[in-house]
Amino acid sequence: MAVVSAVYAGTYGEASGEHRAKSPWECPNCNRTLDIRYEKESLVLECPEHGLRLSYPTPPGAYQGRSLEELTDVVFSRTMSGMNLARQGICPRCWGVTVIEYPTEPTYGLDGEGSAQDDIVWAEVDCNRCWLQYDPPLQVLISSHPAVRGFYSEHGLDDAEALFGSRSTSNPEVSDLVLHESGGTTATFELGEDALAVDIDEGGRVTDVRRE
Ligand SMILES: [Zn+2]
Ligand SMILES: [Zn+2]
Repeated sequence: MAVVSAVYAGTYGEASGEHRAKSPWECPNCNRTLDIRYEKESLVLECPEHGLRLSYPTPPGAYQGRSLEELTDVVFSRTMSGMNLARQGICPRCWGVTVIEYPTEPTYGLDGEGSAQDDIVWAEVDCNRCWLQYDPPLQVLISSHPAVRGFYSEHGLDDAEALFGSRSTSNPEVSDLVLHESGGTTATFELGEDALAVDIDEGGRVTDVRRE
């Protein structure tokens, strides 16, 4: 069954060339527009200036019948849905047990000292059974919760806008994180006049969601 679904998604055998487009989003570290590329079964967002690179494994079947921009929306929707499962301890790939750790060191190439990303709290989600791993800012992980996605949707913002750009969940002007001494954390998201607060425990499980 796994092989059948892998073949159907196009994992095996299809040669896929490289394709490029400009994204609508700015690099979080500088003002350059991020490039979108599809290559080697991954959707890649990359800053042409200083090498920030975000890579999302994506089978060629996902690109069939879609533009690169449409593929990007699909990848972000699936990433959010996958993170929503993984956040609850369920691997979206193999159904195994996932574990969340935070704060962690970022594992991909961000700028060093003085970058706009210095104060980001990073999280890591790992599957105990397979290679699945997410390493998002903690707010992004928390924003996979349906209440936060609903909050964004109410304000006319989709998954891509929750992940990138001026209203993204990791933008310090939108979100605030308080790490409590007890081990838990409260994330607050503000859009317009509205605010949504989410409490998580030290294992990353959501314990409370409320409007503030
Ligand atoms: Zn940049
Ligand atoms: Zn897994």
